[in-house]
Amino acid sequence: MKAQPQASHFIDGAYVEDEAGTVIESIFPATGEVIAKLHAATPAIVEKAIASAKRAQGEWAAMSPTARGRVLKKAAEIMRERNRELSELETLDTGKPIQETIVADPTSGADSLEFFGGIIASALNGSHIPLGSDFAYTKRVPLGVVVGIGAWNYPQQIACWKAAPALAAGNAMVFKPSEVTPLGALKIAEILIEAGLPKGVFNVIQGDRDTGPLLVSHPDVAKVSLTGSVPTGRKVAGAAAGQLKHVTMELGGKSPLIVFDDADLEGAISGAMLGNFYSTGQVCSNGTRVFVHRALKERFLARLKERTEAIVLGDPQDEATQMGPLVSQAQREKVLAYIEKGKAEGATLLTGGGIPNSVSGEGFYVQPTVFADVTDDMVIAREEIFGPVMCVLDFDDEDEVIARANATEFGLAAGVFTADISRAHRVVDRLEAGTLWINTYNLCPVEIPFGGSKQSGFGRENSAAALEHYSELKTVYVGMGRCEAPY
Ligand code: NAD
Repeated sequence: MKAQPQASHFIDGAYVEDEAGTVIESIFPATGEVIAKLHAATPAIVEKAIASAKRAQGEWAAMSPTARGRVLKKAAEIMRERNRELSELETLDTGKPIQETIVADPTSGADSLEFFGGIIASALNGSHIPLGSDFAYTKRVPLGVVVGIGAWNYPQQIACWKAAPALAAGNAMVFKPSEVTPLGALKIAEILIEAGLPKGVFNVIQGDRDTGPLLVSHPDVAKVSLTGSVPTGRKVAGAAAGQLKHVTMELGGKSPLIVFDDADLEGAISGAMLGNFYSTGQVCSNGTRVFVHRALKERFLARLKERTEAIVLGDPQDEATQMGPLVSQAQREKVLAYIEKGKAEGATLLTGGGIPNSVSGEGFYVQPTVFADVTDDMVIAREEIFGPVMCVLDFDDEDEVIARANATEFGLAAGVFTADISRAHRVVDRLEAGTLWINTYNLCPVEIPFGGSKQSGFGRENSAAALEHYSELKTVYVGMGRCEAPY
């Protein structure tokens, strides 16, 4: 098989198999071909992975920050050297075009390892608090064994975005990729070992919604970081709360992207297309509710239609392909059902709306689709579709659009396109979201915090802020005189 790994799991520095686990088939979404067969972790594999992480964590945390950083930076270097090989694997795993994976997947994982490797030595310092003749100091200490659970849209990036700050802070991790994309995280584990990571500090086990709860409820696990949907987030946060575990929740969204009448038209259309069609629309922070000022509407829609119809769909392994298939048959069915819902609800289908004729075979393709005249109450404007389906809504007034943009349970991201600098800042200030963009969309370099508010989650990934979510403060009061008591 095209992408068969040595074994399903990577524990304590080596590949491990347990054929008693349920079979997980890895499918290349562009053809439907099975490219690898793996097994979900049995309870014995879960125990082995957590025990290995627990054993390794103390030694790792005891290393100097500089030495830990060196390992992470070396891993980043190896990822960059192998960017093509890793990107090709990511394309097989997800169906995303190589044109994207080569610039956005292993490279952003490497950025994360390099960034956290570089800042550990200065970012984990505590403070000294003078108290007269006494004093206190604080230390930032690791949580212990942490669990990462990934979604299928950015498998290698998600593994690195969780591993890099967790390991930098001195934790050990057990990572479970999505059962839909099981391959990339195993390579990250291999590379970390090659870079000098002590065995057991980063482990990967396979599994699905039945495996995840075994990790979340394990008494030796101190924290769970999930990237997934809101319903999964509620279950995982609920289970973690039962044992008072730390959590980071990177969940879904239905983010607004607002285009004012003074916006640069081509730039705003680029933002809307990037925020709806990149990775075949399977990006959590996508600006799927595009509010366009009525004065700009006709020109915006005309150019958007033209540019959308020029998107090149095809084999994601071909460098010329701009849009690949959706990740799975199930996801395609879900997206097609939303498209039918949009038609039935009376939205105007501007372009797309079904399976493309241009791509033959068994792949899970859907046309890039734009609905215009969408209203706030339509299901396609309220629920996360997670596919290449853009909803364009009209608006007339700033206060009105802000209120409508905020009228959602989600709060992951938002964007504003305008030439008026005061309005840009005024509007983002009032939008309820964790990550916001002005005159651009979906850029998430490792230097800036990323995460959601409201039902889109809590905790932050990337930037020094992520270290706070993988560590806790220990406070030490130092008495300099004799301890006095009233009795
Ligand atoms: P999902 O919620 O179905 O699954 C996510 C992960 O959780 C998978 O690994 C799955 O096996 C696991 N899981 C499922 N049930 C579980 C349980 N009860 N306990 C523990 N683990 C469990 O999500 P998905 O379909 O893989 O990904 C798409 C979703 O992820 C979208 O909603 C998208 O917006 C979101 N997402 C969010 C971000 C972000 O950073 N905010 C990034 C990417 C994707």
